[in-house]
Amino acid sequence: MAIISRDKIVEGLVNILGKDNVITDEKVLKESSIDRYRKYEQVMEVYTQPIPAAVVYVHSTEEVSEVLKFANDNQINVVPRTGHSAIEGGLETALEDSIVIDGSTMNKVLKVDKYNMQVTCQCGVPLQSLDDMLREQGYTTGHSPQSKPLAQMGGLVATRSIGQFSTLYGGIEDMIIGLEAVFPNGKICRIKNVPRRAAGPDIRHIICGNEGALCFITEVTVKMFKYMPENNRLIGYKLDDMKLGFDCLREVMVAGYKPSIARLYDAADAGMHFSSWLEDGKCVLIWMAEGPAGITEATEKGIKELMSAHPELEPVDPKILENWFAGLNWGPEQIAQEAEEIKATKNIGITTEVSGSWDCIYEIYKTACDRILEEVPDMTLMGGHSSHSYMTGTNMYFVYYYNVVDCPPEEEINKYHDRINQIICEQVIKYGGSIVHHHGLGKARAKYVHEEYGSSFYMLDTLKKAFDPNGIMNMGTLIPLRK
Ligand SMILES: Cc1cc2nc3c(=O)[nH]c(=O)nc-3n(C[C@H](O)[C@H](O)[C@H](O)COP(=O)(O)OP(=O)(O)OC[C@H]3O[C@@H](n4cnc5c(N)ncnc54)[C@H](O)[C@@H]3O)c2cc1C
Repeated sequence: MAIISRDKIVEGLVNILGKDNVITDEKVLKESSIDRYRKYEQVMEVYTQPIPAAVVYVHSTEEVSEVLKFANDNQINVVPRTGHSAIEGGLETALEDSIVIDGSTMNKVLKVDKYNMQVTCQCGVPLQSLDDMLREQGYTTGHSPQSKPLAQMGGLVATRSIGQFSTLYGGIEDMIIGLEAVFPNGKICRIKNVPRRAAGPDIRHIICGNEGALCFITEVTVKMFKYMPENNRLIGYKLDDMKLGFDCLREVMVAGYKPSIARLYDAADAGMHFSSWLEDGKCVLIWMAEGPAGITEATEKGIKELMSAHPELEPVDPKILENWFAGLNWGPEQIAQEAEEIKATKNIGITTEVSGSWDCIYEIYKTACDRILEEVPDMTLMGGHSSHSYMTGTNMYFVYYYNVVDCPPEEEINKYHDRINQIICEQVIKYGGSIVHHHGLGKARAKYVHEEYGSSFYMLDTLKKAFDPNGIMNMGTLIPLRK
């Protein structure tokens, strides 16, 4: 792949960025060759992917441009990175002598524009600190993925991430106003901040979701919303089955209500969150209304009216749901604790998220769970929840645990994780859903890209070839490597 040696790559990078910003420490390089898709290998400190030549820290758009141009001229694979919370292999350095470009040092909030309700920041601004800062001033981004304490703005846009209040605020694609990105030839492109445009296709969406396979995102402008947590209303129910739960989600969405949270846990997943008060075998349905008082009151009233038509639903005291939400997000502490537990028990928990229209989501959920429990060994839990609903359908977030039995770390992915992913993808494709709702294709699910895209794969492939003709941007992500 690269047309110069590893030493020359490092030398070229030092010339551009200075010695202190070019890291070649072996431990750092190994840790930077993977992400949480290889969680078991990571915990067991067994590294199976090619080790990068260097991890570099960039401080400006111009530095990103120079590094990309150097990589492009010398055909060196680059892997963009910000928060390092990826879970689908997007950060794996799949080719020898790659460069990991870390944008977490580009961490300035550039402008808080309260009049036009938008905030501009560099790619390495952590979402948690941005939202905390805005909330102190009475505003919020409305974006709240479970990885909020880890993820940064560049990665959040690059993966088309979504947060727990998405049913009201939308995914990141609904929040982006404008962007700046650098392409492999060093070209810096800015998409200006306007409320809407019809000047041809919406090119923000070539950048949003590119997963580092087309360009490096350097700056992001997103919407701000008024923050009014005092008006929040939580509504919860217990119920016996998921089919009814999906019907309830659909009724509220189709009626035109916009709760911020619309969640349905199956019995297995609910058991992990609510065991202190929930009977075995029960599912849980949760809504939250958010925003100005008049709207939240009307939303709460409307949802309760619709749900009252189902006598099978058993109301839950909203107070017991408040603690549930407070403990949902994951930061470094939870990651470290999980690693200790995996080491001690060899029991590992993974998630896979998909979406489907209302007419197929139950079949996707049911048949995937049934097949996995039947076909995959050593499963200790199989379940999930729906957490993002739309007028036209919803997502399913499969949650599963298995014991790693008689299996060296380097074989765990093949024996368990990929097999489970394969079953989920097969069932989703069979019933016509999308195999990825929000974590990105990464490298883990890139092998299904043709089935996912169908005839529109032509468009993705053409974009890749046009923007990255030398094939240096995060190869193996979105589109699998050719053997
Ligand atoms: C515990 C946990 C919970 C999670 N919960 C959610 C959730 O609720 N919702 C959700 O959507 N996701 C979730 N994720 C997945 C992950 O946090 C998101 O994909 C997040 O958007 C990644 O942001 P990051 O800054 O960590 O990016 P990274 O992990 O650094 O990178 C992610 C991908 O984006 C690319 N990338 C990173 N920065 C740039 C850049 N500047 N330019 C171009 N490409 C770039 C990388 O190459 C990689 O492919 C979760 C992950 C964990 C570990």
